[in-house]
Order: sequence, then C-alpha cells, then structure tokens
Amino acid sequence: MVMKTCAPEKFNPGGLAKLPAWFKQPLPDMDKIRAMKELFRASGLHTVCESAHCPNMGTCWGAGVATFMILGGTCTRACRFCAVPAGRPDLLDPHEPEHVAQTIEKLKLRYVVITSVARDDLQDQGAGHFAATIRAIRDLTPDVKIEVLIPDFSAQEEALKVLSDAAPEVISHNIETVRRLSRHIRPQAFHDRSLRVLRRFRELNPLALVKSSFMVGLGESQEEIMELMQELLKAGCQILTIGQYLAPTQMKRHVPVVRFLTPEEFERLHHRGMEMGFKYVESGPLVRSSYIAEKGYREALRR
Ligand code: SF4
Repeated sequence: MVMKTCAPEKFNPGGLAKLPAWFKQPLPDMDKIRAMKELFRASGLHTVCESAHCPNMGTCWGAGVATFMILGGTCTRACRFCAVPAGRPDLLDPHEPEHVAQTIEKLKLRYVVITSVARDDLQDQGAGHFAATIRAIRDLTPDVKIEVLIPDFSAQEEALKVLSDAAPEVISHNIETVRRLSRHIRPQAFHDRSLRVLRRFRELNPLALVKSSFMVGLGESQEEIMELMQELLKAGCQILTIGQYLAPTQMKRHVPVVRFLTPEEFERLHHRGMEMGFKYVESGPLVRSSYIAEKGYREALRR
C-alpha cells in the first residue's frame, strides 16, 4: 500500500530552508484533529502542540494524544527557540485544573503530559497550580499516569517541594541545549540552575522518574553533547529525549537552524545514551519532550 505523505514544508511553519526528506510524515487524520481542536476551544485550554507549532501534531492528535499547557497562553520569558508567545501573562484561571481533568477523561487518556508557560510573575511561579492540576486529575481519573514538564521555578525550594509532594509519575525539566549555547538560546535561564532543579527533584521524590530533553542542530559540537549527557546523568536524570531544532519563524527573535542531523546520528545518540546509563533515551529528528512520552516512561520502569 502506498502511504500518503505530507511534504516536509507543511511542518515548517516559519517557511524556512527546505527540510530534509526524513521529515516527511503520513497525512494526518484531519477529522480527528478538528475534533480535538473543538474540544480544546470549548474548554478554554491551551496545548503546547499548537502553541509551539509542534511538527508531530498530525501523528499525536491523530492518535488522540495532546500535551496540555496550563497557566495561560503567554510566557514571561522569551527563549530564542520557542514559538510560544511571550509578554504580559494571562490572569490565572482557577477552574483550569478541573477543565484539564475533565478533558483527560473525555479523551480517555491513560498517560498525560502537563506543561506550562513560565510564570515569573507569580510568587510560587505556578507550582501550586501544577499541584492542583495533578490533584484534580487524580480525583477524576485515578489510574491516569501523570508527567509534568515544568519551567525551572527559579529553583525555589518551596515551589520544587510543592510539585514534588503532588507525586507525579515523571518530573521533567528541559535543559534545551549545551552549556555554551544556553545563555544565547534561553537568556532568562541558567544552565546550572536547570541541573540543580533536576538534582533536587531526584532527592525530593526518589519514586518519580526524572526526565530532561535537549535540541540539536543549534551549532553544538559532538563533545558538547557528550558533556551535556554526562551532566544530566550526574544530576539524576533517568529519561532523556533528543530532537532536531526547527526554527518556529524567520523573525530575529528565533535563532536559525545551524545543521540538520541525520537519522543515523540520532540513532547513535540513542545508543550512546543507553550505554552511558540513562534508563531510556528517545532520539530522532522529530522527537520532542512529550513525543510518545508514555513509551519512555514504561521503558524506564522496566530497567
Ligand atoms: S510531540 Fe508533544 S507537543 Fe508535539 S504534538 Fe505530540 S504531544 Fe503535542
């Protein structure tokens, strides 16, 4: 059977340099995607899938999977790789936790990823709202496994404790890039602070799996990638995802792609990471932190 595919350009919202052929994907199920969009609009919820122009929407939404983005649709930081709008943040919706839980129930999800924009304007930077969302999901659908992908909460101890005490199955915080490029790519974050956040979660809740993710193709060297993987392991990271950076737009705010790594290079990074001692490494051009996240969780549990 000939599989219908979408041209790679379709997933290149910035209309940037032609993407390599390996970005070609099956045509998405548009009816399913429309239904998902209506559900999110009706509940007033955001997804990072849409906000970050994720290239996997066809695959994930076609399978009824999405990543919820709580705490509003506007971020207080302006990272140079990210498509999520930055600026004055929205007022906090106190009903958002219930709406997230109800939508998870409607979608019959058994594994969910909850992420958020950064909220440096809030005293606890959103940790309490994350915890309330976890509780609302547990109340309505106790069997659902929960992965949270958090900003760094400025490494505030109290915020980290609040999140950790809410006991999600996986706590994820993305390091995003190698040490040398960190300040350029995410000017309001700190490489060592992110490592500290991961380390602290491992100490605070040894039952939760600790996860991180980084992009390649931003101009990093192979040695820098290896150094980053060692740093993550040392910080207690157990699950790692590695994916190709794609510039969301051609605007000056967003850094351009320096290089496209081949699928073989991604495969080598997967093997290298597994040899180094991560419980699971997902690595591929289209891999994103929340991409087939349940697989990473289940694989990590087996080791
Ligand atoms: S990879 Fe994650 S962000 Fe992208 S569409 Fe899938 S669930 Fe959404």
